[in-house]
Amino acid sequence: MVKICCIGAGYVGGPTMAMIAFKCPDIQVVVVDISAPRINAWNSDRLPIFEPGLDDVVRSCRNNNLFFSTDVESHVADADIIFVSVNTPTKTRGLGAGKAADLTYWESAARMIAEVAKSDKIVVEKSTVPVKTAEAIEKILTHNSRGINFQILSNPEFLAEGTAIDDLANPDRVLIGGRETPEGQKAVAALKDVYAHWVPEDRIITMNLWSAELSKLAANAILAQRISSINAMSALCEATGADVSEVAYAVGKDSRIGHKFLNASVGFGGSCFQKDILNLVYICECNGLIEVANYWKQVVQINDYQKARFVNRVVSSMFNTVSGKKIAILGFAFKKDTGDTRETPAIDVCQGLLGDKAQLCIYDPQVTEEQIRRDLVTSKFDWDHPQHLVVPPGSPTSNKNDTVRVTGDAYEAAKGAHGICIMTEWEEFKLLDYERIYQGMEKPAFVFDGRNVVKPEELRKIGFIVYSVGKPLDP
Ligand code: NAD
Repeated sequence: MVKICCIGAGYVGGPTMAMIAFKCPDIQVVVVDISAPRINAWNSDRLPIFEPGLDDVVRSCRNNNLFFSTDVESHVADADIIFVSVNTPTKTRGLGAGKAADLTYWESAARMIAEVAKSDKIVVEKSTVPVKTAEAIEKILTHNSRGINFQILSNPEFLAEGTAIDDLANPDRVLIGGRETPEGQKAVAALKDVYAHWVPEDRIITMNLWSAELSKLAANAILAQRISSINAMSALCEATGADVSEVAYAVGKDSRIGHKFLNASVGFGGSCFQKDILNLVYICECNGLIEVANYWKQVVQINDYQKARFVNRVVSSMFNTVSGKKIAILGFAFKKDTGDTRETPAIDVCQGLLGDKAQLCIYDPQVTEEQIRRDLVTSKFDWDHPQHLVVPPGSPTSNKNDTVRVTGDAYEAAKGAHGICIMTEWEEFKLLDYERIYQGMEKPAFVFDGRNVVKPEELRKIGFIVYSVGKPLDP
């Protein structure tokens, strides 16, 4: 029986390994993590992440051929194939701070593998890493290999949170990059055999290591670029009276372009897009490709501009101040169907409004109060001062108890509010009884729709003043 061990039981390691176990009953899969609370949650009825369909997949194979454990070293030693799916955040200090990937977790995982391995291993990069990382990992693994053969493969993950189970069950493609040596190709074939349990052969693409590593960064950069492109258009639409939904529809009808990722919004979030583009910028700079770096930097800058533009719109519409005004924040996750708030635009918008002394009441169906409070005192990237800026003590967001409330109900959040900001495209926000909400609000009552989920004309009929991204403003 092939034995797989995955280091890192996060948003990628957990669902990805659950799918492998689900599709491959003849393979034993153990997911290990240094975080005991995370592993305990994976072994409980309340999984550590919310992802539609995940519970069923985990329940059907947990403790059969899928296991979660904190006993990292013994399971690594026992495995034939080791996936490494640890976090690779942006470096916060030192060389490359604010842009380069922090590979500390990766390096310590690689050192541990080298130390505990007693038999040949295939080590798979599942985390998103800078191109050429495999070279560094190979050095660490082979430095004191005691005759053990380590083959390193790149197998980047393309799942999107919120649709992870479907993405994993029906991937557009699976990339496997390996060395072109006979041992390298043998390792590629072994990993291909795993995916071949359910992925059609023409969707399993093999390539050289560096192409596979770079493809992941390229895919995320191009997806984010589409969002920044349509968001840049949304600003022009607002200035001219064009409607960004109509423009996006017309543009997407072109079969060379297509409709996906052309929804204007308050901006993209999530743990990957900004991090991976910053990393790409850094790699370009390190290779002396300054113009290329500047090109990709612009994708993040437009995203920051879009978030700032949204805050400015809220404040300027509400008679140039939100000081002391109650604003309901509907949605805090970076997208629907996830409880993940990493880099969510809601953080920037809330911080911007708190900076103007607004009082916020926040509701999200999947995000906890603890997450929201933690997120509102963390950091913000600043291009002009490229280091992590922690909100200083005494600033409005550091003393949040009286300025931020978190509630479990959208109607409660909106009660007595002067305005509502919709930050996440949860389906339930389309279905709210806006008549009822309007009755309970201060007048004039504003809706600022950062995800274009409501129908502005219907809300205007009720009496709301409505702002939707890239759409004609109130008559
Ligand atoms: P995560 O923070 O949710 O999970 C990483 C886990 O690794 C954590 O639980 C952490 O405790 C564990 N870990 C760190 N060092 C460890 C060690 N030495 N031994 C054992 N466990 C260790 O991160 P994630 O969202 O799952 O992302 C993982 C990687 O996948 C990142 O490189 C990310 O860029 C990439 N990725 C993420 C997504 C996504 O949607 N989240 C999609 C594709 C790729």
